[in-house]
Amino acid sequence: MTRDTLHFEQGPIRPPNEAASLLLRFTRNCPWNRCLFCPVYKGRRFSRRSAAEIREDIRTARRIADEVLETSWRMGYGGAVNDAVAGAVLQRASRHVSARSVAAWLYYGTGSCFLQDADNLILPPEELAELLSLLRETFPEIRRVTTYARSRTVVTRRTEELRRIREAGLDRVHLGLESGSDAVLRFMQKGVSAAQHVEAGRRLIAAGLEVSEYVMPGLGGRALWREHAVETARVLNRINPHFIRLRSLRVPRRAPLHAKLAAGEFELPSDDEVVEEIRVFLEHLEGITSTIVSDHIMNLLEEIEGKLPEDRERMLAVIRDYQALPDEERLVFRVGRRGGAFRTLQDLERDRAAAAKIRRLVEEVRTREGAEGVERFVTELVDQYL
Ligand code: SF4
Repeated sequence: MTRDTLHFEQGPIRPPNEAASLLLRFTRNCPWNRCLFCPVYKGRRFSRRSAAEIREDIRTARRIADEVLETSWRMGYGGAVNDAVAGAVLQRASRHVSARSVAAWLYYGTGSCFLQDADNLILPPEELAELLSLLRETFPEIRRVTTYARSRTVVTRRTEELRRIREAGLDRVHLGLESGSDAVLRFMQKGVSAAQHVEAGRRLIAAGLEVSEYVMPGLGGRALWREHAVETARVLNRINPHFIRLRSLRVPRRAPLHAKLAAGEFELPSDDEVVEEIRVFLEHLEGITSTIVSDHIMNLLEEIEGKLPEDRERMLAVIRDYQALPDEERLVFRVGRRGGAFRTLQDLERDRAAAAKIRRLVEEVRTREGAEGVERFVTELVDQYL
């Protein structure tokens, strides 16, 4: 294999905050794969990759990284991966995803590595620890290694096993908590209970790992929204994770939940209802020091971010400001946010020209298609990101 055809395997997704991380695939797809709201691995079978395959991928990634660094030295940049070096590598390696991704990783210089796919703690603990040690030895420039895992798998691991994995080089685990309500978890076929979520989060923290819990506003639907908000806060209060990440529900056609939606067995809450749900959720978080992150494009109010407890009032104030807007202004904001013209509520004031254009657009759609047509239009804008 020539240097320009060096290749290692990568999976389909990573968390939004791992966009500039080195991505290495330790397992393929999801061993559970039944959650109704999740389209990601549907139709694909879970498989473990052998330790030999993963070792080979780590070494290949290193060879590619060395090649990029050599290019930098040859071009007179002393090992720095700047625009010129990245451009030269991308041009030469335009057909090879692996080379592109390593060059981008060195360019952004995050020092982060994310292990794909959905549940790497399913690997035998000793094997995972050995692979992590190899990764750390091979890439001394890596400063943080993270992975996804299922709570259901974590509770099958002893704290000492998790500690061994931590010491070998894993820093953070992203868990799809989604909800702390057993009724919601059951309906969505998450395959885990609220008690297991608590146990998993606490065990990871006891082992010295950072925990990042994904919460899905909207997942209770119209029927269970309050229970979803209150119980999710209750579970998080018992874990006190390092991060709580909000990722609001959308239902793409590929997700099994879409059929339930079409059959009327699940009702999607409106944007305004989800905002109210998040208000109730925030008000029930207590006694914890987690950082709330809103780094997902599906979230309407991305400024609901901050450290608990000190930023809770500010986050609630964002919600109050949104809820205090006249109906038409909330609609203008939703169209602007979903269409990419606005990022935060303040943009409504800051960019009056855009707001005026959106008001006219909303009026046109309403005249042509009525109020329902306007809602359809907003939905189409959001769903473009699915
Ligand atoms: S466990 Fe995670 S990846 Fe697997 S189906 Fe559920 S949400 Fe999707």
